[in-house]
Amino acid sequence: MWVKMLEINIIEAFSDNYIYLIRNETKNITSVVDPGESAPVIRFLKSKGWHLDEIVNTHHHHDHIGGNTELLEIYKSKLIGPVYDQNRISNIDILVSDNELINVAGVKTKVIHTPGHTLGHVCFYMEDEKCLFSGDTMFYLGCGRVFEGTMDQMWSSLLRLRFLPNDTLVYCGHEYTSSNAKFAKHIDPNNKLLDDAIVEIKNKREKGLPTIPFELGTEKNINPFLRADDQKFIDSINLKKSNPEKFFSTMRLKKDNF
Ligand code: ZN
Ligand code: FE
Repeated sequence: MWVKMLEINIIEAFSDNYIYLIRNETKNITSVVDPGESAPVIRFLKSKGWHLDEIVNTHHHHDHIGGNTELLEIYKSKLIGPVYDQNRISNIDILVSDNELINVAGVKTKVIHTPGHTLGHVCFYMEDEKCLFSGDTMFYLGCGRVFEGTMDQMWSSLLRLRFLPNDTLVYCGHEYTSSNAKFAKHIDPNNKLLDDAIVEIKNKREKGLPTIPFELGTEKNINPFLRADDQKFIDSINLKKSNPEKFFSTMRLKKDNF
């Protein structure tokens, strides 16, 4: 039987950020993904009596790295971050690049460079744990705004994530699910799978629970931003575009102003 090595704890930060505190009990390693703030992380670590061994950053935005400095000072953790952001994230100990295999929390992890939201953005995929830390590239029912890269780059990045196995659980950087769901329903009104997901999402949010993680397999059928090359979907919403890139970009711009 396959047993997960890791326990992934969700810590809320700011108004809608998620910080992930990963615990490998067997190896006694604790790692944190995108600590935008230090205080809630320190509080959590203290409550468990854990030391913080590693910090992992997906990209240079402040709401993902703002807690680095204080955590590094207190715990002398190792900082793992994208080589592409070495001039924008201070004190990276381990620079990582596309397709590299590294260890995070004692588990084999693949680095996937996903430019679009920022040029240096990377995602972290743990095949054996069946989980993906997608930062601000893929959200539940959405994707990140395209700030630094091109629309084509963002689409290609999402395609790479879409290629991962269906049973992958995705841990993204923000709780944007409810507003993403409204947009998804708006442009894809007759999708039974989407409707089912929306019911579940509403239930969770009414109880104040995170909607994260979400399963990639279902996501491939309900996240409009993963379906820009799905001809049936494109035809159904009557938005004629000559190629997936144009279709993706049209959807992304619509969402920006939704
Ligand atoms: Zn960001
Ligand atoms: Fe963010």
